Amino acid sequence: MKDQYGRTVDYLRLSVTDLCNYRCRYCMPPEGVEKLPHSSILSLEEYVEIAAAAVGLGITKIRVTGGEPLVRRGIVELCRALRAIPGLRELCLTTNGSQLTALAAPLRDAGVDRLNISLDTLRPERYREITRTGELENVLRGIEAAERAGFENIKLNCVLLGGMNDDEIGDFVRLTAKKPWQVRFIELMPMGVCAAWPPERFLPAQEVLSRVPELRPAGRSGVAQLSRLPGAAGTVGLIEPISCAFCADCTRIRITADGKLKSCLHSDA
Ligand code: SAM
Ligand code: SF4
Repeated sequence: MKDQYGRTVDYLRLSVTDLCNYRCRYCMPPEGVEKLPHSSILSLEEYVEIAAAAVGLGITKIRVTGGEPLVRRGIVELCRALRAIPGLRELCLTTNGSQLTALAAPLRDAGVDRLNISLDTLRPERYREITRTGELENVLRGIEAAERAGFENIKLNCVLLGGMNDDEIGDFVRLTAKKPWQVRFIELMPMGVCAAWPPERFLPAQEVLSRVPELRPAGRSGVAQLSRLPGAAGTVGLIEPISCAFCADCTRIRITADGKLKSCLHSDA
């Protein structure tokens, strides 16, 4: 599949629920989102049917996301069925990590190839403050469980929140010295609850390179600009949807939990 800009569309994101056990301040209101009626949510069978049709059209990579995908009942069975679609090369999942101590091994067994785990701070108090309901310790244990289950190339997603976590940029980068992870700094997008946040919350991801000048360029991977500390096991990725070194390399389409197809996260169509 090619779009009108000549980009090959080979990556499908499946949102398997709108719901979440967290209430991250930039993503959800304190009361959470209104639950969609059961009848308008895709069934697990419908996801598999849609995904199989998409793979038939040239999709090679699927990412399961949310809301929080691990709160959807039947998620492990869904992943197993998705992975069994002939022609699919990679099945990934993005999670807040809170359920991974229990679910990392079953997900690996079901054939999930890679995990992205969201982590915006390494400080327990601040973690509680940003997520409103989360405990850092659960996620750290979840990451360990993922490693034990055999997940490699783990990516940690850290949304840059000016004045809230940018003083931890160096701590996050240093994690990659020993761990073979990709720590990805993502620019905060002014959507939903954070659309009206003050300008100082929105930091360009290039700020990471100014704060840690030891980082050396290490190419690109999809939409991420990579760099590495000298001799480090892992890499640092910059994801810049706002500064916009992004759209030309975007190859994704999305299916929402109520079964709508979106060609761009920022489009209402
Ligand atoms: N609940 C899962 C999680 O947090 O990983 C999956 C869904 S979440 C919407 C996917 C990613 O989007 C997370 O890494 C989250 O931090 C990020 N995200 C949410 N709102 C964002 C925003 N306004 N700007 C940039 N990234 C955002
Ligand atoms: Fe949003 Fe993910 Fe945080 Fe849930 S864990 S509130 S879906 S960013």
